[in-house]
Amino acid sequence: MNVLVINCGSSSLKYQLIDSETETVLAKGLCERIGIDGVLTHQPAGKDKIKMEAAMPTHTEAIGMVLDQLTDKENGVISSLDEISAVGHRMVHGGEKFACSALVTDEMIKTVEECNPFAPLHNPATLIGVNVCRELLPGKPMVGVFDTAFHQTMPEKAYLYGIPYEYYEKYGVRRYGFHGTSHQFVAQRTAEILGKPIEDLKIIVCHLGNGASITAVNGGKSVDTSMGLTPLEGLIMGTRSGDIDPGVLEFIAKTDNVDINEILTILNKKSGVLGLSGVSSDFRDIEAAASEGNERAKTTLETYCYHVVKYIGSYVAAMNGVDAIVFTAGLGENDKNTRATICSYFGYLGLEIDPKANDIRGQEAIISTQDSKVKALCVPTNEELMICRETVALI
Ligand code: AMP
Repeated sequence: MNVLVINCGSSSLKYQLIDSETETVLAKGLCERIGIDGVLTHQPAGKDKIKMEAAMPTHTEAIGMVLDQLTDKENGVISSLDEISAVGHRMVHGGEKFACSALVTDEMIKTVEECNPFAPLHNPATLIGVNVCRELLPGKPMVGVFDTAFHQTMPEKAYLYGIPYEYYEKYGVRRYGFHGTSHQFVAQRTAEILGKPIEDLKIIVCHLGNGASITAVNGGKSVDTSMGLTPLEGLIMGTRSGDIDPGVLEFIAKTDNVDINEILTILNKKSGVLGLSGVSSDFRDIEAAASEGNERAKTTLETYCYHVVKYIGSYVAAMNGVDAIVFTAGLGENDKNTRATICSYFGYLGLEIDPKANDIRGQEAIISTQDSKVKALCVPTNEELMICRETVALI
């Protein structure tokens, strides 16, 4: 069956139409600048990308255009919308309400709305996408797949913060974690590549993209993860600070005379490797600057890797061992230097990288030597395929 996978943001929307039997992508694309002007990039499999500017005052026009392109005589890949069997939606925050994917119903939407305070920008945007699809594709079964769901197996000791308990009890303030769909997909794939049951494996998945998080997966279950109540906690990211002393907030507020909204903008948009390097949020630019002798860029790369290493080390301790350390997402899949630097810290665990095997980009591979006690892998993530699988399983 064909599953339309939708990943809806406040001003953008990504989509893929996937044939679930063969798990092939029939077409994919992106709507950008929704509510501003509107640009659609549509790519039918095996054909050239088509980019067009078209008014998209709301998500209704954007999704309408996507459906038009999918069924278009020239650029389309299906002859009518009847050939779409179901829609899978990427949802961001399901709080404690969703430990797995869920069929979209009126009640489900209400429950997701209850989680909106935790993701005030992301959740309402995904719900707009859900509502527009229900309007334009009436009667089609739809499924919501949550970024937080995979992490609902974390034990209390991993998800509680050291703040007054009533914040958790009354308001649900705790670690939830994100990128769950990616961590789950990559952990499953790792077990397949290693040819071992996932139940027998301790895996640490490093999702290193513009947003970045690390998850300890023990026996196929998430037991700890670096992002928290929001995706701001944890690693240093492209533009996000990750962990800092909360006292820094007061210091910035007083020094710069700014309110909490401005502080959050600094921590979300102006920090991370962008803020540290002063060069860019993109590692390719920072690496280029470092290789030209920019000392701040060099320090940024070292600091970034050091923080990843500290998280990995803490998860080895949390699981009392590790079988595989796995790299995924933009940086993890593409940057052999970052992978090698991070792995070089784990000689004491018996991890030995194979420089030749590690000399790859965007491919599945075991990048450690055959004798390496702990395996290191590169496994490209595929959140859309995971959403497609979850959708099929639920309907
Ligand atoms: P993602 O959020 O997973 O799409 O990852 C995007 C980030 O991956 C970019 O901002 C870059 O920092 C990083 N990235 C992508 N390709 C490369 C590459 N070839 N070398 C280094 N970093 C890369």
